Amino acid sequence: MIRKSEKSKFNEPLSETVQKLVDQFGGWLNVFSRVTNSFDRALVNLGKTVDCPFPHRHGNGGGKGKFRLSASDVVGHEGRGICTCMQDGGMGAVALLMEDGVGGGQYAQCLLTVLRALDPATKDTHVRKETAPVVVGPKNSVMDPQEVARRKERLDLIARDLVSLDHPTAAPARAYFKNRGIPLNSNIQDVKFHPGLKHWADSETEPEKKVLLGTFPTIVSAFRSKDGRVVNFHRIFITADGAKAPVKEVKKICSPMPGFSGSAITIAKTEGRVLHVTEGVEKGWAIHLVTGESTKVAYSCTTLPTVHVDRAMYDSVVIWSDCDPVKPNRTRQSGDGQYFAWELARRLFTEGFDVTFMMPDGNPANAKGRDWEDVIVQEGVLDLSGSYYRFQTLKTFAAKGGVHKRQIAA
Ligand SMILES: [Zn+2]
Repeated sequence: MIRKSEKSKFNEPLSETVQKLVDQFGGWLNVFSRVTNSFDRALVNLGKTVDCPFPHRHGNGGGKGKFRLSASDVVGHEGRGICTCMQDGGMGAVALLMEDGVGGGQYAQCLLTVLRALDPATKDTHVRKETAPVVVGPKNSVMDPQEVARRKERLDLIARDLVSLDHPTAAPARAYFKNRGIPLNSNIQDVKFHPGLKHWADSETEPEKKVLLGTFPTIVSAFRSKDGRVVNFHRIFITADGAKAPVKEVKKICSPMPGFSGSAITIAKTEGRVLHVTEGVEKGWAIHLVTGESTKVAYSCTTLPTVHVDRAMYDSVVIWSDCDPVKPNRTRQSGDGQYFAWELARRLFTEGFDVTFMMPDGNPANAKGRDWEDVIVQEGVLDLSGSYYRFQTLKTFAAKGGVHKRQIAA
């Protein structure tokens, strides 16, 4: 006969109960957003740096672009916050929540709040903590002139050695696009080549340290602000034969100059008043090859909603959205790619553009499905003749055949 354990469940330390629940939910990364919205930005950009949710811990800079949540696959390390305002190794999940004021910043109260948010008996009545939006005053929105000069100098240093993609030395970049099935032509605009840029990565063991992983041929694209100034570079590190460089972060941006918000990379600029907008250099180029029309790309889906489009130059915008999986246990019932792309569609429509929204159809809800570059290459769309026929073909792969919103003529 098996006797039930004599240990009462009330003897189990609260921390153990909470950790078990957290494990059931798939780890802390799935739990943060049930308790607070302060880490949403870091969750959307997992492993990448975002503004520190604790600006008060920083000096004048306010921790802009200093904080990231670790996506490490080292057990027990996922969900750690790492920032220059913290000691080496960063802060664990519970410490982060306490710092955010969950449970009044008290350890036991904080654990009880997490328990309430996860426990099947209470989770439906639990209301998560909504923090007031951070108001950026004029003091914070102006970058220190010395910092601006330092960033400009770094961008200039890169710009000095850039060559156009048809330059003899740019063969690795041409091979990269060709290998992907989207060969280059002379329409490519603000995308250039650098023969060798250093790739620095965060140290695995000491978060504050950077490690040099090597020098690689690099595809360098320019972000231009609303008024056309170069405000940052996007870099794709590759190999001599046009493969992705053997590093974790193949794509990186530099520290942005003022005006980065709303900026985009001009992939192609042609006649006509239609602009195609998407995220990512390669996808943008694939879409230009299909349509033959002007194309701009944002850095990532989270920066899509702010992309500036000049009403004097364009009448219609076609937005090519990703179809990302729905994050488990998120309030938002839509993946990030389409959520932010739809935000852009809404904004541009109110600014007076005709808007077409193209999102790949038939992707699984729980996994990363095909994006438009995949569809274009895998379905052989570039082998079809005529941009009209190619676009119509892509519509057969779009949710609802593509959604059009037209301005009503007065
Ligand atoms: Zn910080």
